Amino acid sequence: MIIEALSLTIFVLVKDIKSFEFGEFTRIAIEMREKIDFNFSAGEKYIKIIFNKDIITSKAKKHKNFDIEIKGKVLKINFGKQISFAKYFVIPFPYKIIVDVSFAQMEIEDIIQSGEKKPVIVIDPGHGGKDPGAVFGNLREKDITLKTAKLLYELIKEDGKFDVFMTRDSDKFLELEERSALANSLQCDVFISIHVNSAPSYHAHGTEIFYFSKNYSKYAMKVASKENGIKLNEDFPIVFDISTDFKEDESKELADLIAREFWNKGEKVRTKEGAPLYVLAGTYCTAVLVEIGFITNLLDREKLQSESFLKKIAIAIYNAIRKYNFKNSI
Ligand SMILES: [Zn+2]
Repeated sequence: MIIEALSLTIFVLVKDIKSFEFGEFTRIAIEMREKIDFNFSAGEKYIKIIFNKDIITSKAKKHKNFDIEIKGKVLKINFGKQISFAKYFVIPFPYKIIVDVSFAQMEIEDIIQSGEKKPVIVIDPGHGGKDPGAVFGNLREKDITLKTAKLLYELIKEDGKFDVFMTRDSDKFLELEERSALANSLQCDVFISIHVNSAPSYHAHGTEIFYFSKNYSKYAMKVASKENGIKLNEDFPIVFDISTDFKEDESKELADLIAREFWNKGEKVRTKEGAPLYVLAGTYCTAVLVEIGFITNLLDREKLQSESFLKKIAIAIYNAIRKYNFKNSI
């Protein structure tokens, strides 16, 4: 208790450090006790975070692929090998500094060839494992999102023009930053996260489409709080600090295409707007989150249990991907 109280004033308390490793790509999530100013820099084989106060933590230890060294105000992560890029971004609740590092050394031939690669689509079925998402009776968001994602996966796979992956293909728990890290490591061009909505009012029904934006409405913040797994606090807006460009315009374009396909198939689109969604914030490619219906609405609930509706949604998203202009985003 004494340490926690002190940390608010004179120390930086690092609560947890997690890493996700996919091939040549590593993401490290540093969870802090509270928001704190810092300075980020990267060397040939390390990254360095300098705070304005001394750090206390029990998390400075040797990890499989890197060492964490803490001295005074400096947290240094040594990788022992050459880094080709290092970026960071911050998510606010809980306050985490997320560092992405790649070790891939691109040869000139790779760069030439990458112009001809098939667009990579990553489908992300929301929730999973210990996190059921929205629940009504024995109907669970995590099962509906997985079913829909599998239908979409099959359509894209059969098409042959794309490389397609899923963040999970079974009932398994994944952290939000793990999903986007996986997408980044696969060099995704389009990331589609599939979710099911819920609302206090039984009347709310229809689909909703979101892309990442730092500017958002109160409603988008409410949805994001739910999907980010945080309690809504209107006094503390969700503020991001991102060192990298995110593809807001391209993501909005894909959201428009999906909305048009939904309308064409007679499905109501309640909203299509920017939202502070963590899973999208951590993804460097065109990225959208689709809420395919409300589990709390009687008619939507019937649809969400019908294979033909899920197929219709999958076809609509697939059609939008086919119409999407990848040239602008690659
Ligand atoms: Zn969800």
